[in-house]
Amino acid sequence: MRQLIGEAQGLRAEVVELRRSIHREPELGLDLPRTQARVLDALRGLPLEIRQGRRTTSITADLRGGGAGRTIILRADMDALPLQEDADVPFKSVVNGRMHACGHDAHTAMLVGAARLLAQHQAELRGTVRFMFQPGEEGYAGAQIMLEEGLLEPPSGGAAPSAAFALHATPRWASGTVLTRPGPVLASTDNFSIAIRGRGGHASAPHMAADPVPVACEVVMAIQTMVTRSVNIFAPGVVTVGKIQAGSAANIIPEVATLDGTVRTLSPATRSRVVEGLHRVAHGVADAHGLDAEVRVEPGYPVTVNDAEFARFVVEAGREALGPENCLEQPSPQMAGEDFAYVLEQIPGAMASLGTRPPGFDEGEAPNAHSNRYLLNEDAMVTGVAMYAAVALTYLR
Ligand SMILES: [Zn+2]
Ligand SMILES: [Zn+2]
Repeated sequence: MRQLIGEAQGLRAEVVELRRSIHREPELGLDLPRTQARVLDALRGLPLEIRQGRRTTSITADLRGGGAGRTIILRADMDALPLQEDADVPFKSVVNGRMHACGHDAHTAMLVGAARLLAQHQAELRGTVRFMFQPGEEGYAGAQIMLEEGLLEPPSGGAAPSAAFALHATPRWASGTVLTRPGPVLASTDNFSIAIRGRGGHASAPHMAADPVPVACEVVMAIQTMVTRSVNIFAPGVVTVGKIQAGSAANIIPEVATLDGTVRTLSPATRSRVVEGLHRVAHGVADAHGLDAEVRVEPGYPVTVNDAEFARFVVEAGREALGPENCLEQPSPQMAGEDFAYVLEQIPGAMASLGTRPPGFDEGEAPNAHSNRYLLNEDAMVTGVAMYAAVALTYLR
């Protein structure tokens, strides 16, 4: 296993080049034709059975090993974010308002590298490696569509996938480290919108209107109290109101104030408790002031839960391939979300974090994922390629 890092190092130049070409031309959502073409081009010549998505630009590629056995899914996501890039890199996005700020360009390139590396080990594999390249991770549930289009069907003459593994880059941890943990690793992600409806009027005579602005402010504060007072701290929940909108001028009382936010939890019980609480608090506070509230909750991704046994297996495989100091138990879950959760609801598996902190930043100081200044340490991509390969080779040994 220790030789995998050296083999991945040999692929570094082409993997980095592929990442940069995807980075330059980010695509959004479920339709990523240029990214898909680049991946297909990079996979050409490898002994893979390739299928393209029908409703999206996904790619499924099967590598059949030299012997019969199980099937494991290795997954990368390919989509970018609607964000203007302000990072100072020579391969900066050339598309206005679009940026690979979540590392999906690197995930895609690393998985292509892993396909190349594992193809060199084809004879040793007992079973099949299924490479899953998905669009639409950033809110479009692309993984769910791949499930509907047969992601878990057995490869010809093989066994249906019985495990799935994904890596996600994070600038939070040291470059070249891999971390994962059993149980919940990422949160559920429900978005909500609350409209507080009053009656518009002159700013000098609020008694002749019904002002939604102070009521909306009170709702924001009451939500935070609701979370800290009704959620068990060991089954955490986070609610953030990220957007408040009301009014058009200083001397006008508006009719409506709207609040938009997101709910993050690590368990179905906390999730339903917080969502119920949002309805109760918004209606109760509005009612107390004689106004109306309208609450809409848009259900998002479920909690991403790692299979305990498989997560331990990943840590062991990682320690063998990368050295024990580079593969660690992740100290806690993160409250970001992932549509890989849908895959892990169907079969056991795990998602791991790949540390990609750029040089010159201390822990917690590098621009985070989804930042307009997001940077990714490309040295870590060698680790990522080796890690994908180590998990598959060990699982199919
Ligand atoms: Zn993201
Ligand atoms: Zn992401």
